[in-house]
Amino acid sequence: MKHIGAHVSASGGVENAPVNAYEIGANAFALFTKNQRQWFAPALSQSSIQLFKENCEKYGFDADYILPHDSYLINLGHPEEEGLQKSRDSFLGEMKRCEQLGLRLLNFHPGSHLKQITVEQCLDRIADSINWALAQTEQVTAVIENTAGQGSNVGFSFYHLAHIIDKVNDKSRVGVCLDTCHTYSAGYDIKTEKGYAATFAEFEQVVGFRYLKGIHLNDTKKELHSRVDRHDSIGKGFLGIDFFRRFMKDARFDNIPIILETPDDSLWKEEIALLRSFETE
Ligand SMILES: [Zn+2]
Ligand SMILES: [Zn+2]
Repeated sequence: MKHIGAHVSASGGVENAPVNAYEIGANAFALFTKNQRQWFAPALSQSSIQLFKENCEKYGFDADYILPHDSYLINLGHPEEEGLQKSRDSFLGEMKRCEQLGLRLLNFHPGSHLKQITVEQCLDRIADSINWALAQTEQVTAVIENTAGQGSNVGFSFYHLAHIIDKVNDKSRVGVCLDTCHTYSAGYDIKTEKGYAATFAEFEQVVGFRYLKGIHLNDTKKELHSRVDRHDSIGKGFLGIDFFRRFMKDARFDNIPIILETPDDSLWKEEIALLRSFETE
């Protein structure tokens, strides 16, 4: 069975996210546990934590299908010591917030070399950062998102993801999230039937589906190999509706959170209903 939702607003408090997810007919969701454009945030209040848990229970959201996303400022592969430490401290704060909320996953973009270190050095730093954060927490899995490869971002190749995982000490608490927009823009042709089969066979061989902890399900405004990250609504971009039909019938994506980050939130309810209809047609 598929668990689909969207990256919903937590404005007014994290406790509002499960309510917003329920209203669009979701059985999974993503959220920011703090302002995503700030490094640090005030601690979550006890009442917010309590209400979040109560609302998740009330609307039937299990922690296995909630995929929080960290701040966009964090760069766990930062080439400079100061930027790296600030990123690590902020990331640890994000992990601890997840633990307080009873969540078990934290999704993040791996990082950028900023043209100051090699890709490999950057990937090694990211793995070190993950090891550093996992050693100070207990229940949250670090979920690395593949990127479109824009600018100096690493993580656009399955080999990058595998490189990081290989150097993480606790393999039980590391995983990946594939963003379908990023996958395509990075150069994996999941649009065609043949390309779809080849890409996920390569993913299984290089990374392994056992590490797949979530999906960001987006169409894309940019072409194959563009290395540009611009999401589009389901069926409206270069991927097209047949990709989503194929995806929804693919059992390899059962039992993980599938999150829409499509640009028009007024369409989310419709998009979720459409995707569900593909699962059973
Ligand atoms: Zn994404
Ligand atoms: Zn993106």
